[in-house]
Amino acid sequence: ATPYRPTRVAIVGSGPAGFYAAARLLRKQQDVVVDMYEKLPVPFGLARYGVAPDHPEVKNCEETFTEVATSPRFNFVGNIDLGNDLPLTALKPHYDAILFAYGASKDKELGIPGEKALRGVYSARAFVGWYNGLPEHCDLQPDLTSGEDAVIVGQGNVALDVARILLTDVDALRTTDIADYALEALSKSRIKRVRVVGRRGPLQAAFTIKEIRELLQLPSVAFDPISKDIFPPDDVVNALPRAQKRLMQLLGKGSTNDPQKSTKSWSLDFLLSPDSLHWSPIHPYHLSHAKFSRNELDSADPYNPSSKVTPKYLSSGKPAMVNLPASIFFRSVGYKSLPLPGLEDIGIRFDDQRGVIPNDGFGRVRSPSSAGDQQKLPDGSVIAHLPGLYCAGWVKRGPTGVIASTMTDAFTTADSIIQDLASHSGSGSLLHDPDHSSGLGWDGVKAEAECRGLRSTSWKDWQRIDAAERKRGQQKGKIRDKMGRVEEMLQVLD
Ligand code: FAD
Repeated sequence: ATPYRPTRVAIVGSGPAGFYAAARLLRKQQDVVVDMYEKLPVPFGLARYGVAPDHPEVKNCEETFTEVATSPRFNFVGNIDLGNDLPLTALKPHYDAILFAYGASKDKELGIPGEKALRGVYSARAFVGWYNGLPEHCDLQPDLTSGEDAVIVGQGNVALDVARILLTDVDALRTTDIADYALEALSKSRIKRVRVVGRRGPLQAAFTIKEIRELLQLPSVAFDPISKDIFPPDDVVNALPRAQKRLMQLLGKGSTNDPQKSTKSWSLDFLLSPDSLHWSPIHPYHLSHAKFSRNELDSADPYNPSSKVTPKYLSSGKPAMVNLPASIFFRSVGYKSLPLPGLEDIGIRFDDQRGVIPNDGFGRVRSPSSAGDQQKLPDGSVIAHLPGLYCAGWVKRGPTGVIASTMTDAFTTADSIIQDLASHSGSGSLLHDPDHSSGLGWDGVKAEAECRGLRSTSWKDWQRIDAAERKRGQQKGKIRDKMGRVEEMLQVLD
């Protein structure tokens, strides 16, 4: 008989998707040991590096994740960039299943002239990473002092996070875990006016009521009322589903702050598509304004939330254009997942078009051919999936959704793994014939990692970094003072 050994699952990525999947696996499958690999020395993905510093309550999920990590069947392996530092083929022989939960590490570009060449143009992703102390972006040094006008393209909640950080009085951010250098730079910011620009109309925007309310309630910040021409009339608003009706009513009311007494202002600018970015001869290569083409809603059905827009033309037949002054410009039109290097070496063909690992919706990675385990979908169609390979979170369903929806999604994937283990004649290994799988997990991978000079971090290491950050924070009256550089984090461990 085969001697007992635990079922080894590798999870790539320690954000909400990775942790919620680990939580479910450890709770429901008593023989599972989870090794969670993370590129950074520290855990939690966008919960630590995306969620805004003035939303500490959203970061409470980190307490749940910390609870998960107390399990003796959980190992954190940080500071290993899988696919780059260590090939995926080094992992595969030692695991029974691998779950990819590595999120979305890039952002979508606009592809307009000036986007790459001009100073003062940033992705919201980089700016968010910067104020949150993400090592990759701690040297961003966004130009907040050349002028007073900020333009943000995109009207999702990330765009509103960026707007709020630009408009909030820095003193209100001092006790948060915002990076110290960001606080310093924001205290010198000259930005007075923020425009949050969208392609479509108010009814089609992606933001939610909590984020709008926060902006409308910022002290000494005025809101430019939305033009009556494009705002839905009362009868349309009253007929909307409850959540959307409340949002429109809030937008219609606007802010009670007196523009005369306010030091800053913001607006939501609708029906504008970015066309190009420009500099003035006075400041060569430094952004001076953004040019937009005007759009119009389908005149037959302008207040349908799924209504499409078309470019607007002047009576002369020329496209209607508008210039918005901009000393700083952010694109916030979404994040994007990339393939990990070497995915194809373990049989996965990344879907570049959709920016996801192709899967059956339940987290099983689809086979690029008809080879693999056959599976019947609820709609009756039959697909093949690659045994033992799974995905969850933003890399599975695309970069949309909040932590709660990521949790549901991760639970679904974990349940698929549990189901597959149960139907796999009890031998444990899904990736391999049990006779050929070492089942050693990290113990089998470690030697290869050390050979490559990698210095991995354990959960205990993270706890030491965490304690050092909290201690530094305490001295400054903050929740924590994040370390913005990997070397700094590793120094704590020496
Ligand atoms: P991530 O959180 O991105 O985690 C992926 C992890 O994988 C990261 O730790 C990354 O370092 C790691 N990784 C990447 N590549 C590798 C590799 N090669 N090897 C090893 N590890 C790797 N949701 C809310 O509910 N409330 C909010 O207020 C909120 N604010 C947000 C603000 C911003 C700016 C953004 C972008 C998102 C926000 N969200 C919010 C959404 C929420 O963050 C996501 O739903 C969630 O983080 C997605 O989880 P994930 O695990 O798929 O990805």
